Amino acid sequence: MTSAIKSKAKVVAPMPLDVTPRELADEILKDLRYRVGKDASVATSYDWLAASIKAVRDRIVDRWINSTKQAYEAQAKRVYYLSLEFLIGRLMRDAFSNLGMMETIREALELLDVDLDVIAQLEPDAALGNGGLGRLAACFMESMATVGVPSHGYGIRYVNGMFRQEISDGQQVELPETWLDHGNPWEFERRERSFEIGFGGSVEAAEVQDGLVERHVWKPSEHVLAVAYDTPVVGWRGNRVNTLRLWSSMPVDPILLDKFNAGDHVGALEESNKADALSRVLYPADSHKAGQELRLRQEYFFSSASLQDILQRHLSQYGELRSLPDKAAIHLNDTHPAVSVVELMRLLIDVHGIEFDEAWDMTKRTFAYTNHTLLPEALESWPVPLFERLLPRHMQLVYEINAQILLEARATGNFDDGQISRISLIQEDGERRVRMGNLAFVGSHSINGVSALHTDLMKETVFADLHKLYPDRINNKTNGITPRRWLFQCNEGLTGLVREAIGARFLDDFEALAELDKFASDKAFVEKFAAAKRVNKQRLAQVAAERLGVKVDPSALFDIQIKRIHEYKRQLLNIIEAVALYDQIRSHPERDWVPRVKFFGGKAAPSYYNAKLIIRLINDVAKVVNRDPSVRGLLKIAFMPNYNVSLAEIMMPAADLSEQISTAGMEASGTGNMKFALNGALTIGTLDGANVEMQEHVGEDNILIFGLTAQEVAERRANGYKPRDVIESSPELSQALSAISSGVFSPHEPGRYRELIDGIYNSDWFMVAADFDSYAATQRKADVWWTDSPLWYTKAIHNVARMAWFSSDRTIREYAREIWNVRV
Ligand SMILES: *Cc1c(COP(=O)(O)O)cnc(C)c1O
Repeated sequence: MTSAIKSKAKVVAPMPLDVTPRELADEILKDLRYRVGKDASVATSYDWLAASIKAVRDRIVDRWINSTKQAYEAQAKRVYYLSLEFLIGRLMRDAFSNLGMMETIREALELLDVDLDVIAQLEPDAALGNGGLGRLAACFMESMATVGVPSHGYGIRYVNGMFRQEISDGQQVELPETWLDHGNPWEFERRERSFEIGFGGSVEAAEVQDGLVERHVWKPSEHVLAVAYDTPVVGWRGNRVNTLRLWSSMPVDPILLDKFNAGDHVGALEESNKADALSRVLYPADSHKAGQELRLRQEYFFSSASLQDILQRHLSQYGELRSLPDKAAIHLNDTHPAVSVVELMRLLIDVHGIEFDEAWDMTKRTFAYTNHTLLPEALESWPVPLFERLLPRHMQLVYEINAQILLEARATGNFDDGQISRISLIQEDGERRVRMGNLAFVGSHSINGVSALHTDLMKETVFADLHKLYPDRINNKTNGITPRRWLFQCNEGLTGLVREAIGARFLDDFEALAELDKFASDKAFVEKFAAAKRVNKQRLAQVAAERLGVKVDPSALFDIQIKRIHEYKRQLLNIIEAVALYDQIRSHPERDWVPRVKFFGGKAAPSYYNAKLIIRLINDVAKVVNRDPSVRGLLKIAFMPNYNVSLAEIMMPAADLSEQISTAGMEASGTGNMKFALNGALTIGTLDGANVEMQEHVGEDNILIFGLTAQEVAERRANGYKPRDVIESSPELSQALSAISSGVFSPHEPGRYRELIDGIYNSDWFMVAADFDSYAATQRKADVWWTDSPLWYTKAIHNVARMAWFSSDRTIREYAREIWNVRV
């Protein structure tokens, strides 16, 4: 590729996008025949899917090659986004829609008697991530292509991504998701782009040049091969196409053959399995520890492959490395790729002969790091003995960097011993561990949080001491979502209405969405808006009927909480309130209750006992409530299995009420909150993460805020919070808790939830009891708002109009200007 560029190969004019349906139908037939190898008369739906993707893919490839060439010739600075997770979802609709070919392809397939919606359902949902962090990476990739940042995403091509969740007997069952079973028409294998990755072994010191410079040579005892698989990422209107490069692990052949030939068949197989294992599975823990050796191996594997690739690309274009910080911005999505900091140091010093001080300066100018969580259980650290055994040279470099940092800190005279020990890259109390957050911090020129509140808390908590040492590094970049997937594609009805009302400009300039605000009280528009919402709710009602056999009324208030199941996200608060409401409806049948459907969805980490128990509780409560005739259908509860991007695309547009109820101070940002509001749901939420900024944008009258603030949570905890007292003073809460605890919802195993509920009585770390009354009262306020239907939709329209700022295009422009120093 590089040599073709150097010889200034003729730029190929890209295939036209303004093709007619008939022409495209002919292309699809041709692709079906010659690239899938089938005739229309025997083609399966999967074959049609493959042929349709290939017909459009050719157009993407043209643009991809042109984008790459353009960036090369302009000597543009490139952004490398390193992330262990990319929660992509389906790509077909994204690509067709961004190329403006949605209608053409639909009509072309109609001519062939194929239904686009049917084949679209067959495309696997690429779930190479757990939740928000991975989805953010996917939104960022799309926005970088849209706003014109030349970039590469780097990650792992997991054979098994996120597990598929089934609910059996009310409980989560984890099944492998084999998303590559039917092949992946979007990826291009690049066998020639492969790198050796070492593990273990020893470090030898060698003298070079007259005994003056000491060079270290790492002799790994194991090697695996990282092979690149590239997926094009199409920006809006197809103007730019970037690359998502995912690494797959393979055994390094010669070693294996030696062993095999020497008769060590078992050894050869072991080696081969070990190499395969690296890119086999995604760790399914979200905001939770995944502390196994294989995880560290995965982190180093993809970091090393990506850095070798980046250096090779830079060298082949510029012939030297000192300009790297001017031409490459490497971004660390959380600490998962933090070992990259020492890997770059190793490559610069040991392989390319640059001295330590200069290498360290280059490293800091090249890297930037995003912190995603303050939860102590999610802050990565590795035992020193493990780190040293797998990466002996990196361990030396960590010590060397640490010595410098601590010297620097001491020299200021501003730090006492306690502070120095918190700045250290090595945790010394208890088991000695390498702190990956500190490593990422000291190796980066920019450290950002993902909402204003989270960034403030970061300065006061985890990084307080490092912030004092380097006060210019921490900055905020509030998360965003791509409006292409999260409005244009998932909600065609609303998108069409907005376009009718304010014209098409918002499609290209999303800030123009603000013009919708003046239609919020326009009676005709309000009615059309309500009708569009109704259609989306009917669609969800149908999915719920198909998947759960639960019948729900689309005119009821759809109240939705979908996200990973975690105690801090407080699905428990929601279901306890549902139990209290159930009790109220039965005790006061004379009152005018607002019919409500409470939807839940989300996966629990397989090893997270309480999270799985909460799923079971939701299903147990649903079983009782949904069957109870005395509720008269006024309350229904539905747990939708296997929450993923594709399900989110159905549920977000169908929501009236969005549950964003985390314990204040614990949700870094949230992006689900943004998707809901953009699709016209009102938020019931705490002042946590980006909810705070959402309130500032949509206005206090258009959002339902309740509960303790982050500061109040900290104070309550510090001042000896007594949940039992709180519970005893709230009859509704006491009643609901004792019903759950005594087995009303688990009659065959009355003690099933006793410990879970005892946890609230005894410690209640997540402040469920403290926030309950405020939450329940705010739910009743939501009922009152809902009862005045036009007013509700007016508020909902204000939400849509005022969410423009939460586009990930805005976020990416901020990263480009303020962190990466890239012009956009
Ligand atoms: C947006 C999204 C998330 C993140 O949701 P939060 O409510 O911010 O935790 C997780 N999973 C999927 C599939 C998503 O689309």
